[in-house]
Formats: sequence, C-alpha cells, structure tokens
Amino acid sequence: HNYLLCFESLYSRQENYMEIPFHKVDITEEDIDAVVESMRSGWLTMGPRTFEFEKLFAAFLEKDEAVAVSSCTAALHLALVAENIGPGDEVIIPITTFVATAEAVLYTGATPVFADIEKDNHTIDTNHVRNLITENTRAIIPVHYAGNAADMDPIMSIAAEHNLVVIEDAAHAFPATYKGRALGTIGDYGCFSFYATKTITTGEGGMIVGANSRKLDRIRSLRLHGITRDAWNRYGKGGSPVYDVTENGYKYNMTDTAAALGLSQLRRCGSSLQKRQQIAKIYDKYFSDNPYILPYEIENYVECAFHLYPLKINIDELKIDRHNFSKKLLEKGVSSSLHFIPFYEFSYYKDKLDAHNYPGADWVYKREISLPIYPGLSDNEVNYVAKTVIKTAEDCVEGR
Ligand SMILES: *Cc1c(COP(=O)(O)O)cnc(C)c1O
Repeated sequence: HNYLLCFESLYSRQENYMEIPFHKVDITEEDIDAVVESMRSGWLTMGPRTFEFEKLFAAFLEKDEAVAVSSCTAALHLALVAENIGPGDEVIIPITTFVATAEAVLYTGATPVFADIEKDNHTIDTNHVRNLITENTRAIIPVHYAGNAADMDPIMSIAAEHNLVVIEDAAHAFPATYKGRALGTIGDYGCFSFYATKTITTGEGGMIVGANSRKLDRIRSLRLHGITRDAWNRYGKGGSPVYDVTENGYKYNMTDTAAALGLSQLRRCGSSLQKRQQIAKIYDKYFSDNPYILPYEIENYVECAFHLYPLKINIDELKIDRHNFSKKLLEKGVSSSLHFIPFYEFSYYKDKLDAHNYPGADWVYKREISLPIYPGLSDNEVNYVAKTVIKTAEDCVEGR
C-alpha cells in the first residue's frame, strides 16, 4: 500500500512538478563580454567605466550627475553624512524595510525613529510620520517598497513644513515613476541598489543622485577616503601621485569591473521591466477575484518597477499562517520570500520597540509572501506559481 502511494506521488511529480527558485540573476552573453572586455583593458577599480555608468544612469533619470558607490547602504550613509546628520538627530524610516535603511542611520550616530506602514501598499504611513516629528527630527527616508512609490506629495510637504531632508531609499525602484517623475529624483537624494537580486545588478553596487551639486561633490570625495577629486587616477597615465585629504572619508567606491556589468544591464532595463510587468499582469489576473488572496495596491499615477510581487494571504479565511503557507509552496517546488521582517522582531532592535505600536506592519507581516518575478521566468512557470498558490490556499480553507 505504501509502495503504491509512493509510486503515485512520484508519478504526479513527473507530470506536474516544477521547481522555481525565488530569484535567478539575468546575465546575458553581452554582460559577460562587457566584464571580460573591462578586465582586458587593464583598469579594474574606479575609472572610465564607472564614470560612463554614472553619466548614463544620470541621463536615464534626466539628471546631470550621479555618484556610483559600493552599495545602496553606502549611498544612504553618504547622503546622511553630506547633511551632517549625527548624534542627537532623529531620522524617520518605515518599521518594515531591509535592515540597511536603519543601519545607515546608526552609522552616523543618529537615532532611527520607526513609522508604521500602510496595509495596502506597505510604504511609510505619512500620518504616523507627522506624529513622530520632534525638534530633533532631521530627515525622512521613505522606502519605495517593491518598486511602488511611497506617497511623495505628503512626504515632501511635511519635509518643507519642518525643514527636513528627504532621502529616497530607491533600492527597489529603478526604473519607476510617481506622477510622471522618476523615483529617486523627488527628494533631496535618491539611493539605488545594484545588489545581485535587484532590478539591475553589478553584483554589489549602488548609486546616489541629488538635488545639490555641491553636496554631490562632497559625496564624490567621501566615497574615496575624502581625497581630492582626481586622485583616483594616481597610478594612471597622466595621473598625479600628489593629492589632498580634506576630511575623513570612506572606502565606498565602485569598481570598473562592476560598472562594466552595470552599463550592460542598464542598456536593457526597459525590456527587463516590461518582462516583470507582464509577469505581474498574469499574477494579477489569477488573484484579482480570489477571496483567499488580498490585493496589493498600486495607484494609477505610479509606474511600479516590480522588484517584488508581494502577495497577501487572507489568513482570516484560512487555517494556516504565512510561514507554513510558504513551506507548503516550497513542498510543491515554489520558492517564495518575505519582505520584510519588521524591526521589532530583531533582537538588536526589539528592546526599544513594541509591535503594538505598528498595527499596519504587524498585519502585513502575518500575511505577506513575495512570489518569483524576474525576466528568466517562462509563462509556464508563472502559471504554475499562480495555480500552486491558489490550490494551496483552497486546500487550507476552513471546513474543507
Ligand atoms: C537591498 C536594499 C538596500 C541595500 O542595498 P545594498 O546595495 O545591498 O546595500 C537598502 N534598502 C532596501 C529597501 C533594500 O531592499
């Protein structure tokens, strides 16, 4: 009898089973050629390719300049340093984001102050932000969760009212728009990530754009030890070994090897976005009328980058929690993820935080599951993921 059951499950596996990773990097032969070519050039660290990547990235956002760095975490840190934010200052960030957003604030000695998130789109709750402002508040870091825009109009007016700096954490949001404006270009600074899983990648890397050219000059110096601007070329042809150090900086520069990959990835960011939009559309179609799946809201004035496809399961109708739901998906070959664990769950942060103060985040945390969304997914795989989610939910309906 057991043998028969085993055989049956093996058989059904062969018929219907697919294994779908949560993410697969999108690397083409052109990407590989670009990196190899940069290595053959003999210049490995920051140099001509980094500057070309900056120029092209800036042009894409219709900005005059952009500064390439080693990560988005570094970009967030440098934006805070450029504003002289430090001990005694408070910076408001969402309670649900990647840890880097708070980490960058802590590097400066300032205090991260956590605001709740919206239930419908998981971005910072602007009414809560208003209530958190004190005489020590210096900045707000909205996070464009999943590549969907935080509500920038109220954020910018709160900032104007209280003379605050706005640093957009646009790690998910390239390329995306809010009311026709590119995300990352609305606040005083926009910080982007080229981490391996992000919408374009350099392996590790980041970019910073800003409204104030003088401050960007300072950031350009700070990313490379605080040395004067042209010293990057001190071993190169025509470079000078003599340079000045104007302040204590950081080792946050990008390498040309990474920039070569970035340039190649940037050139096809449009088609890659299109592919993610198509996948989101298929998912939407499957889930829109399903009572066990809760909708993720994107306003019609936002063009989402779809770094993530955040799903919420209707746990009030199902006899399962999000973690076990995710496990059940994995048993059927579908890898999912969770974005994000709120700070009050982490041992380093929890002493100062109380989940009860974050009803929005708590509600989302109990329901959110991120589904695979990347250019390498075939329609077949997308259909399989969606059907597996629906079947799993239906199997968990109370009374069935
Ligand atoms: C990935 C991420 C970061 C950090 O990006 P790195 O380039 O890995 O430093 C910051 N904020 C958010 C919301 C992220 O998802």
